[in-house]
Amino acid sequence: SGAGKKRRITILGSTGSIGSNTLDVVTQLGGREAFEVAALTGSGNIALLAEQAKVSGAELAVTADEGRYHDLKSALAGTGIEIAAGRSGLIEAAEREAAWVMAAIVGTAGLAPTLTAARRGADIALANKECLVSAGDLFVSAVHAGGGRLIPVDSEHSAIFQSLEDDQRHAVERIVLTASGGPFRTWTRERMAGVTAEIARAHPNWSMGLKISIGSASMFNKALEMIEAQHLFDVRPDQIEVVVHPQSIIHSMVGYRDGSVIAQLGCPDMRTAIGYALTYPDRPKLNVDRLDFAKLARLDFEAPDEERFPALRLARAAMQRGGLQGAIMNAAEETAFHAFIAGRIGFLDMADIAEAVMDRLVSVPAAAGMDDVFAADEAARAEAGDVIAAKEKAA
Ligand code: NAD
Ligand code: MG
Repeated sequence: SGAGKKRRITILGSTGSIGSNTLDVVTQLGGREAFEVAALTGSGNIALLAEQAKVSGAELAVTADEGRYHDLKSALAGTGIEIAAGRSGLIEAAEREAAWVMAAIVGTAGLAPTLTAARRGADIALANKECLVSAGDLFVSAVHAGGGRLIPVDSEHSAIFQSLEDDQRHAVERIVLTASGGPFRTWTRERMAGVTAEIARAHPNWSMGLKISIGSASMFNKALEMIEAQHLFDVRPDQIEVVVHPQSIIHSMVGYRDGSVIAQLGCPDMRTAIGYALTYPDRPKLNVDRLDFAKLARLDFEAPDEERFPALRLARAAMQRGGLQGAIMNAAEETAFHAFIAGRIGFLDMADIAEAVMDRLVSVPAAAGMDDVFAADEAARAEAGDVIAAKEKAA
């Protein structure tokens, strides 16, 4: 509101798909006239990170990759932009004063820096869903304790957030998460067994980072989103439904006890959810495509198939079991994902590995604090590594 007062923001994971879209929204909403960028972070893509830092006038640019410190230093020589690297660099970025932080690092790597920003009271725009899947209520509590807001960026959760009437939370019956079904929606398991990462990453509607694209094909992304919804909206697992909606126009819905269902619709473009998170509760004017209903003509729905996409069943198990099963599922899947893109295991092995690790670590007690979350994450990665090695040996 205050004329002339610029908003200070930070983007963790600025070089990624969400990060780049966030910078596009920032540009659309006035760029350096309206925003001061405290920090940007990336990892291997030094040229892009340096370019983003120069264009946005960032104070600090951080590469997560320690080995690229000198590359970043030479790319930004003479600009006056501060640089840092590695885990400590990410924490430094998160600590910088900025009232709004986009959490757009992929995977559990984003948890520590996002927590740091949350604890100092920043509003957290959360794309990095793995934070919630791993740390659950501990993460939500950290944001609340810091005094900032937790604003979802995941399109489904943004849709639910927009469809929730604040004073009618008690009247919510169910949350309906829509899923595109991914590129293998109609495929048999036999056919999926042989796919490469190159084939699996081609999403029909959304253009996204590699991990979430593969996760859309296996529906593991939806599994993460079920757990994300449980913690964000404080609902019971049995209140969370998934429906396959191949056009990705309805981004998700909230069903109320009077039979009403409130949905949020839009073209599949993350900038709408990002813009909403940036200016909430205001809606910014954005240059994104508008829906043309006559052109759309129809919206389709079908029940998800948990036989072909076991990830959904694993998410239910993780929610029912509670404790650290979300952290364990997430870490095992992330490890399996890296093995899949390296060509070490098959597409269907990813869910098998996650399930095996969840079962092996089923007796891990609930977390008393964040250290337990990090320990469970590490234990699950180690177990997943063993299961992957055993599979490779058997193949
Ligand atoms: P991406 O792979 O395009 O970008 C990831 C970002 O994280 C990059 O800036 C990268 O440099 C950084 N990064 C990677 N490894 C890192 C590490 N070890 N330490 C620190 N930084 C690291 O991913 P994305 O598609 O933009 O997704 C980011 C997050 O947003 C994910 O949690 C994803 O699930 C979520 N999300 C993405 C979309 C989308 O449309 N892309 C939609 C909803 C939610
Ligand atoms: Mg999503």
